[in-house]
Amino acid sequence: MSATQTNKIDITKAATSKINEVDFEKLSFGAVFTDHMLECDFTNGEWQTPVIKPYAPFLADPSMRVFHYGQAIFEGMKAYKDDNSDIWLFRPDENYNRFNKSAVRMAMPEVPENVFMDGLSQLLKIDQEWVKKGKGNAMYIRPFMIATGTGVIANPSDDYKFMIILSPVTSYYSGDVKVVIAEHFSRAANGGIGAAKAAGNYAAQFYPTTLANKEGFQQVIWTDDATHTKLEEAGTMNVFFRINDTLLTAPTSERILDGVTRKTLIDLAKSEGINVEVRSVLVSELVEAAENGSLKEIFGAGTAAVISPISGFSYKETYHELPKIENAMATQLKDKLTNIQNKLAEDTFGWTVKI
Ligand code: PMP
Repeated sequence: MSATQTNKIDITKAATSKINEVDFEKLSFGAVFTDHMLECDFTNGEWQTPVIKPYAPFLADPSMRVFHYGQAIFEGMKAYKDDNSDIWLFRPDENYNRFNKSAVRMAMPEVPENVFMDGLSQLLKIDQEWVKKGKGNAMYIRPFMIATGTGVIANPSDDYKFMIILSPVTSYYSGDVKVVIAEHFSRAANGGIGAAKAAGNYAAQFYPTTLANKEGFQQVIWTDDATHTKLEEAGTMNVFFRINDTLLTAPTSERILDGVTRKTLIDLAKSEGINVEVRSVLVSELVEAAENGSLKEIFGAGTAAVISPISGFSYKETYHELPKIENAMATQLKDKLTNIQNKLAEDTFGWTVKI
């Protein structure tokens, strides 16, 4: 191992690479990690020098606050390699800003831009061989922060650890996704943490989602907690509905994550001349549209799968199957967006940023 100091990041390179052990044709999402990781500790009220070092487990005190009170946040973003082997991020400022919004909501310190952005660029450069070219190929980036302060007392930690790990991914077909509309469980409430990417939000979804899985549904469409009459998100994605030729999606709120893919698709669809309405969509409206045939498509939108088409939904024990359609908006928009992300089409929006 050799230690060098670059741009206020301490870098220790792995002696050998694991890359030859990886079958890039058969990647399960988020299962394989690159040779290096970034780590930056917040101690004595300030961020310490970020470190890039070989990917490895670390020691954790059993009384760390993260284990007891769930003070933990994360982000999910992707990097892409173009034909010239340049590496591009997609709207990274959105993820950076959302990360710090999540930090504030969870009483955690904000991460400085140079730690997050320069750290990420350096890390990607060091592990650049792991970023593969071609449509659908990407490096999934997982920045996260945990409370490392010790002591089983329920107040915010004084110490934190910010890390970035990288996982190569390829495009995946989510299979036939049938969903159930939530009538009892909620993922978020007004005044709660639904708009933050807080770890606990995801843990809270596991049980209702497992119940849905047992009934043969892959995901839950979350509704508003107060009345369960408004459609809000699909699993861990924002959700779009196509009624006739109009795309509908709920406005972001305290209960809905401000998804980067969602806001991108709204702009992309509008630029394609598609009519987009950002407004609350009622469950009753969806059922009616399914019954009268005007409901053409439902799809989830998020960084991981980009767009995940939904084939039908269940509500109050009735299953509504969507029609099979040619030239689905979901397919067209996914194709347009992944072409921009993989630098196979011109990015007239200025969303892609070279590292
Ligand atoms: N909603 C939730 C709850 C999510 O976890 C995600 C994934 N980050 C999204 C929506 C989609 O957000 P993005 O497009 O930024 O990945």
